[in-house]
Amino acid sequence: MNFHVLTLFPDMIVQGLNTSVTGRALTQGYIHLNAVDIRAYSTDKHRHVDDYPYGGGAGMVMQPDPIYRAYMDVIKDMQASPRVIYVTPQGKVFRQSMAEEFAREEDLVFLCGHYEGVDERILEEIVTDYVSIGDYVLTGGELAAMVMIDAVSRLIPGVLNNEESAEFESFHDNLLEYPHYTRPVEYHGKRVPDVLLSGHHKNIDKWRREQSLERTLLRRPDLLTDASLTKEDLIYLYRLGYRPSGEEDVQEKL
Ligand code: SAM
Repeated sequence: MNFHVLTLFPDMIVQGLNTSVTGRALTQGYIHLNAVDIRAYSTDKHRHVDDYPYGGGAGMVMQPDPIYRAYMDVIKDMQASPRVIYVTPQGKVFRQSMAEEFAREEDLVFLCGHYEGVDERILEEIVTDYVSIGDYVLTGGELAAMVMIDAVSRLIPGVLNNEESAEFESFHDNLLEYPHYTRPVEYHGKRVPDVLLSGHHKNIDKWRREQSLERTLLRRPDLLTDASLTKEDLIYLYRLGYRPSGEEDVQEKL
């Protein structure tokens, strides 16, 4: 997977991703990072990349041409046009399902805005996806791009030591993950649940599934609408008070 990031702060991207799991994935070649300094594509003698907004108002706007030139340089050797993600608070909110979709691409281009944002004309010309990391406003797009690159990278085979760990995590199947425990068996008067010490894998799996359902119902009931639930799951949730909108259908399934 090749990540290309069009940014005014390439060092921030490189330093941010060059640590921990993504850092190891970069060193081992599972992912590649191309942090492109938009300023290097300015033709202005002072290397300006922004200007005042037409119509007045506060702040500066990133000019289209340096971005266009940087983008053309990035895609020059590609066989097909890549997905170009403009990270913006005005986009669709990033989700695990989107990370899974992005992980299937060969190349992803991220465009990071700054100041008031980017001239609309270049967005119309090159952007395929408008994606936000949440309903708040950051000073620039770099952190948002790094969040997405991190989430996508860990879905690339080989990036995590144990691939299973990505498979059963929160949001897989639209459920939150069950709770984890490690040594010691007793901590501040609280014991690890007996079932986890039993060595009985079928019971452990059942307990984990139930915990996962319960936790999702409690913390993120909105996810359950799109979760793949078995009849046993529905019975368990129903006992906990879960009543989806089509209650009659559930009664029927039970
Ligand atoms: N004036 C813009 C608006 O109201 O939509 C916000 C500009 S923001 C100060 C500067 C840049 O940070 C944006 O162009 C975008 O690239 C990035 N950014 C800010 N918040 C973001 C978010 N929630 N998700 C993704 N990118 C964000």
